[in-house]
Amino acid sequence: MARGNPVSRRQTLQGVSALGAAAILGSVGNVPADTSGSPAVPGWKSGGQANPEVAKRVFATPLIDTHEHLIEEKERLAASNPRVQADDWSHLLSHYLNSDLLVAGMPKDAYDKFFSKGTDPADKWRYLAPYWPAVKNTGYGQAVRIALQQLYEVDDLSAATVRAVQAAYEKTRQPGFYRQILCDRAKIESCQVNCLSRPFGESEMPTFLMQDLSIVGMFSGPDFQGFGQPTGIEVRSLSDWHRVIDWWFDKYGKYAVAVKSQNAYSRDIDYEEVPAEKAEGIFKKRCANESLTTTERKTLEDHLFWYAVKQATAHKLPVKLHTGYYAGQNRMPLERLLHNAGSAAELCRQAPDTRFVFMHICYPYYEELLAVAKHYTNACLDMCWSWIMNPVAATDFLKKALVTVPATKILTFGGDYASVEPVLGHAVMTRRGIALALSRLVEEGWLTLSDALDLIDPIMHGNARQIFNLAEKTRVLHDVPWR
Ligand SMILES: [Zn+2]
Repeated sequence: MARGNPVSRRQTLQGVSALGAAAILGSVGNVPADTSGSPAVPGWKSGGQANPEVAKRVFATPLIDTHEHLIEEKERLAASNPRVQADDWSHLLSHYLNSDLLVAGMPKDAYDKFFSKGTDPADKWRYLAPYWPAVKNTGYGQAVRIALQQLYEVDDLSAATVRAVQAAYEKTRQPGFYRQILCDRAKIESCQVNCLSRPFGESEMPTFLMQDLSIVGMFSGPDFQGFGQPTGIEVRSLSDWHRVIDWWFDKYGKYAVAVKSQNAYSRDIDYEEVPAEKAEGIFKKRCANESLTTTERKTLEDHLFWYAVKQATAHKLPVKLHTGYYAGQNRMPLERLLHNAGSAAELCRQAPDTRFVFMHICYPYYEELLAVAKHYTNACLDMCWSWIMNPVAATDFLKKALVTVPATKILTFGGDYASVEPVLGHAVMTRRGIALALSRLVEEGWLTLSDALDLIDPIMHGNARQIFNLAEKTRVLHDVPWR
């Protein structure tokens, strides 16, 4: 598909004329100008009509990306991170869409061959072909296809296109491609990365790839190796472990934008306040490598969770918590997720001075999470990941959130990817969804057009700047000690 847009990719949005904005609108959606006089959402299929003024504004407005797992660009270029199984076009399908493939019935040996670095990239299509029709229209599939269209100018994967896709993959994956994809193409102002290989990622681009400090290993386990060892503190008692937690906050608290925990993958987020005296004996057993009962493990985790959260609060760091759906396949206990929103409310009630950011709309139980954010001053909503999990539900969630929850508490975008390319696809889907949600609210008479337009800046970047104190963080991150 031709891009047909002369606007420089490096052109910033500030000060862009109406004509320039229209050109950018075309470039983001990658669709020629509509000649019917009724512009669709850019890049949208038939039926995706949005209010043209809303769509134009949404597609020209920068996003702040509040959740990613992006590996550093140099690790990606060197293929040195274990998340880069094969440095070829299959990499674009390796996060999330790989699960849809397995769930669609792709056998493990075909899966392994498809993602292997030992298979010729040109031969990979035959492993994918039987399953592609089943996954190409899911949100995960759509994000990848938008990336293929916009980065490689290839409409769809097929036997006829894989060679061109591989050539374009290699041409794109060059030094500087992170900024090219994220800033120039996806119009992302800054990202917030939750590094998966260590508690805090010392990024080479600290003001652009801002970082969360992971707290999960501070309380779950706890993780003696990953969190204890780097501190050099000899851990024999609970108070030693408190010092370990303090060490991480002392070292990285001022550089982190938030703390993050995905502990909801192992249990509900029903953390109770437990005094140190009640946890001390259990911690000693843990040090001696004795096995803990389920109750003991929960007691210890609960105590350490609140110790870490109090440190985060003292450092003015919002607490980001996974809620809802599980990545992966064939393991999610849906019954447990049913309790996440209720437990989230309880956290907010227990710690009124802590700002909680509940991630992923607690899918599929998102009405319940709206009630939490409506009721509690200290609850924020982060729609990260949701547009690719279920784009229709995410649009519905945003539509409901905008007429239910104060508009200052809504964060609309986080790609949630380790790979950079599909972040572009996710950003386009997010812009479509925002444009549609606002347009429907105007059409149905719940918002005036001017009210809808006024919401665009806050939900796409203004709230993130305020919630994560980004002006101050940017100042601090200009001068980090690791560069
Ligand atoms: Zn994530």
